[in-house]
Amino acid sequence: MNLINVVSLSKKYHTPTKEVVALEDITFDIEKNSILGIIGMSGCGKSTLFNIITKLELPTSGYIRENQKLVIGYMMQTDALLPWLTVYENAILGLKLKKMVNKEAIEYVNTLLKKYGLFDFKKEYPSNLSGGMRQRLALIRTLAIKPNILLLDEPFSKLDIDSRIKISDDVYKIIKELNITTVIISHDIMEEITLCDKLMILTPRPGKIKKIITLKKEDKSPSEIRKKNYITKLYDDIWRYMHDE
Ligand code: ADP
Ligand code: MG
Repeated sequence: MNLINVVSLSKKYHTPTKEVVALEDITFDIEKNSILGIIGMSGCGKSTLFNIITKLELPTSGYIRENQKLVIGYMMQTDALLPWLTVYENAILGLKLKKMVNKEAIEYVNTLLKKYGLFDFKKEYPSNLSGGMRQRLALIRTLAIKPNILLLDEPFSKLDIDSRIKISDDVYKIIKELNITTVIISHDIMEEITLCDKLMILTPRPGKIKKIITLKKEDKSPSEIRKKNYITKLYDDIWRYMHDE
């Protein structure tokens, strides 16, 4: 079943000097309980698409059909943790903003903090956490509102390669455990191949759909998939599609 149908989306930005076509005629579905990757080169319109799906921006034309009431959880390119709040206060921030703080919600946040290794750091400040821990905290804050769709925009781009592989495994495990519909936006081919069930490749700007590929992951973790032989050819193919070859 499709949770969302994205139909003929286009987006133009008007600046004082020029018009920028960011997206052109984008149509695709987001299948329930799957992980969809959206990949393309820098500037091709990925964050624009993210902003339209999360309703932070309106499209110039086209529309999004929701086949179920959505509770959207999203993480933008920066982790956006507030440095003057503790780990715990950051974790419940989304709940507070949505006026959803109650005993049950707090218990759920505590469960998430325990499960993902942050409970003992509740009273610390984000500056005392590693990059991976910050990322997990940002994710917990997003999950606290119990979203039924999760959108991540370049979630690991600020991390070094070792942390990125580790957090990919962590995030994959979390998504699988919660069985939550997820969209992961990235320009990193390896990240997308190892995490996603399906990959939508955009052309350089203006972003158009070049290809949608189904990935056969056999439910393996990202670090296991990295070791597979078929990865090299797949990587090359995707690289070419991204460069519109
Ligand atoms: P990506 O996330 O793939 O790197 P973006 O969606 O951020 O790409 O941007 C797509 C294009 O739209 C870029 O050329 C960018 O400069 C332009 N753009 C994005 N936001 C705005 C804006 N608010 N005003 C004008 N141009 C914008
Ligand atoms: Mg972006």
